[in-house]
Amino acid sequence: MDMDKLVSLCKRRGFLFQSSEIYGGLNGFWDYGPLGVELKRNIKEAWWQDMISGHNELLISNGAPCEHQMVGIDCSIIMHPQVWKCSGHYDLFHDFMVDCKESKKRYRHDQVRGRWALAKEQRVFIATQSGGDEGLQETEQKALKFFNLRAKSLEEISWDGPLVSLITITDFDKVLGPDAKAIGTLTPPREFNLMFKTIVGAMGGEESSAFLRPETAQGIFVNFKNVVDSTRVKIPFGIAQIGKSFRNEITPRNFTFRSREFEQMEIEFFCHPSQSPEWYKYWRDRRYKWYTDLGLSSSRLQLRDHDKDELSHYSCGTADIEYAFPFLPPGEFGELEGIAHRGDFDLKSHMEGKLVRSGDELVVELGEDGKPKHRGSGKDLRYFNDQTRERFIPHVIEPSAGADRGTLAFLCEAYFEEEIEGETRVVLRLNPRIAPVKAAIFPLVNKDGMPEKAKAIYGDLKKEFAVYFDDGGAIGRRYRRQDEIGTPICITVDGQTNQDDTVTWRDRDTLQQKRIPIQGLKEELRNLLKS
Ligand code: ATP
Repeated sequence: MDMDKLVSLCKRRGFLFQSSEIYGGLNGFWDYGPLGVELKRNIKEAWWQDMISGHNELLISNGAPCEHQMVGIDCSIIMHPQVWKCSGHYDLFHDFMVDCKESKKRYRHDQVRGRWALAKEQRVFIATQSGGDEGLQETEQKALKFFNLRAKSLEEISWDGPLVSLITITDFDKVLGPDAKAIGTLTPPREFNLMFKTIVGAMGGEESSAFLRPETAQGIFVNFKNVVDSTRVKIPFGIAQIGKSFRNEITPRNFTFRSREFEQMEIEFFCHPSQSPEWYKYWRDRRYKWYTDLGLSSSRLQLRDHDKDELSHYSCGTADIEYAFPFLPPGEFGELEGIAHRGDFDLKSHMEGKLVRSGDELVVELGEDGKPKHRGSGKDLRYFNDQTRERFIPHVIEPSAGADRGTLAFLCEAYFEEEIEGETRVVLRLNPRIAPVKAAIFPLVNKDGMPEKAKAIYGDLKKEFAVYFDDGGAIGRRYRRQDEIGTPICITVDGQTNQDDTVTWRDRDTLQQKRIPIQGLKEELRNLLKS
């Protein structure tokens, strides 16, 4: 699939716009248009419905069914700065960046790759930001320019190994930066904290600085006790939140995939430590199935368990759900969601202070003065089981999904072009549950009472469904307009409607048409949305 075509469809039909476009846009920020907002809202609502309000799943543990409750929460974006000190974000939430002294551009260290080229007795690491075939071609072109060779002299360059990450390179003086003409212009990697800083109140000093949350999860942890005390939830249970998060990404790119402002759908699931491996597996599988049920094909989706050395120091398991986005080189996947076993790290940190590993144990990190580097809240966040009389810090399983990456994956998966009767039909095969418009209603022609009848059907269906009315242009063109935005059904009022109160029902994917009574439309649409 050609990503440029999807991007242009998104703009043309009002799914996504560049933020502040009339001022030239702002890198890393996006606006959802009238159709995009519906699509993303449907995805978030499907998640909330399936994971929280409508959930009625059981985990079979040791042969016995184990129920669990799910509740929601909606926390503020700006929180007490101490939250980020104890969570580790203040000290550790950074990427490494390199600057180019020549082009003045900044890159994420791990996103620059390249390969060694040898010609005219000089060995140079030719860097690029692209991967796969594109990366190979770019490095070829750059090497020809650098060594001052013509295209037909390409064989004078010998290549030493495949594209590798800049992380593996130590001799920066031999690196030709992605946008540089001379070698040795990249600075050594430096840390860059990804949290956006802001000032709270009118005083404006350093002591009033705060951060926009880089994840929604911490709001859940700091409210754990509030939820337990104010509701009747019993462990195991989950708290869910959907909301905006902010990360000052060094190189936002790939459409909405890496943005600086994005939405997350996160669950923190609290359970007894002895049951946490089982719950980890449960959530990992359940979340993968959610994507396939909503239409992502398993050939482009993968569940990847992290290697031991990739795991955070407190985690006994993390898996990513990844999608083969078309803008990535073949064989590469991008993360849609991470499911992490977080142990008791978060609650314990908010009780005692920021934790670090010491041998096999997690201990409070001490500053140079021997006192805790970042003090916790001092509140007792343990859970008390009134039946077993046990008091413990629950373990946490965290399925953390991105609503924007999910939306983008569903769009990529749905986009098809097909030849029909010599014409190209663009169709978004979105699952009806998430399609922005469920049905479009047309009068076949604008006479003989058809528009009035179609308007009446539209008005009635609109009370329950997201429907659209269109009486402009030839019927074929109206079908195409709906196919392109993923509307599963088109309903047409025609000459026969006046005689027998039936309409045509046309299916977006099969293109089959059938006649159904107006009375039966709601039932048919309800069935469609259940599928
Ligand atoms: P990446 O490695 O791609 O930066 P991450 O591992 O830092 O992602 P998490 O901290 O696990 O991401 O965040 C959970 C989810 O939030 C991700 O799976 C993704 O869907 C979403 N997300 C994270 N960063 C961004 C971003 N910059 N733009 C859009 N979505 C994001």
